[in-house]
Amino acid sequence: MDQRAGSSALNLDVVGAGPAFTDKPGATGAAYLVRHDRTAVLLDLGQGSFPRLAGLLDPGALDAVVVSHLHPDHFIDLVALRHFLRWGPQPARRVRVLGPAGLADRMDALHGEPGFCAAALDIEVLEPGRLVIGSLMLEAARVTHAGESYGFRVTSADGPGLVYSGDCGRASDLETLIHPGDELLAEVSFGPGPVPPDAAHLDGPSVGSLAGRARVARVLLTHLLMGFDPGETVASVRRSFRGPVEFVTPGDRFTIGR
Ligand SMILES: [Zn+2]
Ligand SMILES: [Zn+2]
Repeated sequence: MDQRAGSSALNLDVVGAGPAFTDKPGATGAAYLVRHDRTAVLLDLGQGSFPRLAGLLDPGALDAVVVSHLHPDHFIDLVALRHFLRWGPQPARRVRVLGPAGLADRMDALHGEPGFCAAALDIEVLEPGRLVIGSLMLEAARVTHAGESYGFRVTSADGPGLVYSGDCGRASDLETLIHPGDELLAEVSFGPGPVPPDAAHLDGPSVGSLAGRARVARVLLTHLLMGFDPGETVASVRRSFRGPVEFVTPGDRFTIGR
């Protein structure tokens, strides 16, 4: 990592940035690794993202995995993490997982094995509010999407934060999380828009208008559905936000704050 000692800056590794399905090889499910000092928190762990995670750090050394909602493109590689912890390098280890109520039941049911999760994962039910994890502060807020869904702000002591939308059907839900100068990692499923009335997701114009109102420092875009043009999407965000805007790709590394 390139972080300087004593800095409040966060390191963000884009582990996966895909939506639920894609024709883009390597666009694995949502997974974003945030590190500060010796603390490592993973936001979501979607399909196919475990191998890249394991290439970045020892997954057993994660301080927590935080799951935004119970769609598999945001949590299904917890199965791989569980197997790694249980059967990988010995002795077996455990990792803390924070997620919406019902996460453990779903994974146990998928495997047809009660206690499947509990063998290696310490699963806690996520609630709105703030939580200290090592040198990081995690703030969770409910967003409109599917059942219990969350967006997050991650920050160190006093530095600017990273606000992650998870999947979100109403941009204004994220306003309570954003402080001016934060960086916004936002889903933009429907590209330049519009979002169909029955889809609880965001598009470029809604992300751009949120970013402008909330005065964020930079917009990082993700979770683009198949068939939408990234260039047109970025242009649609720029119509109401003058700061830097870019799509993230698995393998990208960003410094959040200075
Ligand atoms: Zn998703
Ligand atoms: Zn979703």
